Amino acid sequence: MKAFNGKTYPWLEKTGQIWKYDLEGYIGIFGAIALGLLILSLVASVFISRAWIIGVSLMLLYLIFGFCSMFVFYYLIRCPVCGHNPTRTANGKWASSRYLEGKFRKMESCPVCEKQRHG
Ligand SMILES: [Zn+2]
Repeated sequence: MKAFNGKTYPWLEKTGQIWKYDLEGYIGIFGAIALGLLILSLVASVFISRAWIIGVSLMLLYLIFGFCSMFVFYYLIRCPVCGHNPTRTANGKWASSRYLEGKFRKMESCPVCEKQRHG
């Protein structure tokens, strides 16, 4: 299965974790729809009392989904064999998504497992 953006991420695909990478993209689409509905509901609330609640709740939902996708991305992308988390830098901090995009495009296998194999 290819990624949402049509690019290939060999290791993520091999380990069945591509959805964790794609989640952010799907939520971005949801966010765009939620923003559209927020504007619509703000306009509608001129005619229908409290229609804005729909738009505001959708935006809140979007924020919650956003936090969830960040959690999934930085905590749940792991090597199924050794548990290595490639989304962290050497000192345990979150790596930038641009850096990780490049890393996952090239990554064929888990670097930790690879090292053990050639050990
Ligand atoms: Zn591994």
